[in-house]
Amino acid sequence: MPVFSPHALQSVAHLIARRMGSEEAEAAEVADHLVRANLAGHDSHGVGMLPRYVQMLHAGLLVPNQTPDTVLDAGPLLVIDARRGCGQRMANDAVRRAITRARDIGACVLALRNASHIGRIGTYAELAADAGCAFTAFVNVADHHDIQATWQAAEPRLGTNPFCAAVPGPDGQPVLLDMATTTIAAGKARVAYNKGVPVADGCLIDAEGKPTNDPTGFIRDHTGALRAFGAHKGSGLAVMCEIMAAAVAGGQGAFAPPKGGILNSMLATVIDLSKLGDAAAIAGDTRAVTEYVKSARPAPGFDDVLVPGEPERRHAAERSERGIEVDDTTWRDIRAAAESLGISTEAFDQAAAG
Ligand code: NAD
Repeated sequence: MPVFSPHALQSVAHLIARRMGSEEAEAAEVADHLVRANLAGHDSHGVGMLPRYVQMLHAGLLVPNQTPDTVLDAGPLLVIDARRGCGQRMANDAVRRAITRARDIGACVLALRNASHIGRIGTYAELAADAGCAFTAFVNVADHHDIQATWQAAEPRLGTNPFCAAVPGPDGQPVLLDMATTTIAAGKARVAYNKGVPVADGCLIDAEGKPTNDPTGFIRDHTGALRAFGAHKGSGLAVMCEIMAAAVAGGQGAFAPPKGGILNSMLATVIDLSKLGDAAAIAGDTRAVTEYVKSARPAPGFDDVLVPGEPERRHAAERSERGIEVDDTTWRDIRAAAESLGISTEAFDQAAAG
C-alpha cells in the first residue's frame, strides 16, 4: 500500500477541493479536516471521501462557498441551515459561532441543518474543547439510502447517526467520545471492501437480515445493513440522534425521499466551563476521573486501559511520523475523481509528491 505524508494528502485534497469550486479558505478547511481524520486513524472520514464529494458536486447535491441561512439567533439558541453547503466549512463556522455565544452568555444550543457531509464530528468537539468548552452533539445522516438496521430490524431505516461528547482534558488533551451508532462507520465497510478484507463479526447483516462478514453486497449492491452497536441501547441512541437532529434541530430526516447526497444535521450544546464554575477545578476532576478509570488492571490480552480520545492521539502520533497508508482502490478512485474535474495527471502527481 502506498504511504503518503500528511502534507502530500493535504495538497491533493486541497487541489481537488479548489477545482470543485471552493474558495481558498474553504478548500483549506476541507483538506485540513480530511487529513486530520486520516491522522486520527479514521480513514473512513479522510481523503477517501473525496470521490464521493466530487460525485455529489456533479449531481448538484453539494454546494461550494454556500452562504448559510441563520434561521434563529435568540440568546442561547442558534439555528443555521447550511443548505447543502460544504460540510466541513459549514460546521466549523457554526461551531465557532456557538463557542463565541457560549463565551458571552455561558452556553449555546446549536441546531445545524442540512450541511453536506461534515466528516469526523470529533473535529468540532476539539474546536470547542480547545476553547475551554464542553461539547455534545447528536447527529443524523440523511439523503442517501438507509444503512443502519435498528435493534430487532432485518432491514435499515437510519443512517450511521454519530454521537459525540467532549470536555477539555488533562494537559490540553480533550476527553473525546466520537462514534457512529452502528458497530462500524459506513466508511469502514468501504475501506474493508476496497482492501478486500472481511468486516468484524456482528457489524453487518445481508439482504435477508442474516449476519455476514462480507462487505461486498453492502458496498457494491447497496443491500443489507450495518447493525446498531450495543443491542437495544445503541439502537436507542441512534433513534434519539435522528429525533434530535431531524425533529428538534429541524434537519432533513432519514424518512425523507433521498436524492443520493449525504446530509448531516446536528443538535449540539457548547458550554463555557469558566462560566459554569471553576474551570480549573473541573479540569482537576476530569483528570481524577480519567486517572481512576485508567488505574484499573487491564483485562487479559490488553496492555492498558484507555479513555475516549486516546486511540486517536496514538494514531496521530504514529501516522505523523510514519505517514498515512492509502489503499490502491481508494487512491485510484481519488485520481479518477480528480480527472473528472479536469485536473491533469501532472498536476495531480505534483500535489501527491508533496
Ligand atoms: P470508533 O469505533 O473507532 O471509535 C469510537 C470512539 O471510541 C472514539 O471516541 C475512540 O476514542 C473510542 N475508543 C476506541 N477504542 C477505544 C478503547 N480501546 N478504549 C477506550 N476508548 C476507545 O469510531 P466509529 O464509530 O467507527 O466512528 C468513526 C468516525 O466516523 C467518527 O469520527 C465519527 O464522527 C465519524 N462519523 C461521521 C458520520 C457523518 O455522517 N459525518 C457518520 C458516522 C460516523
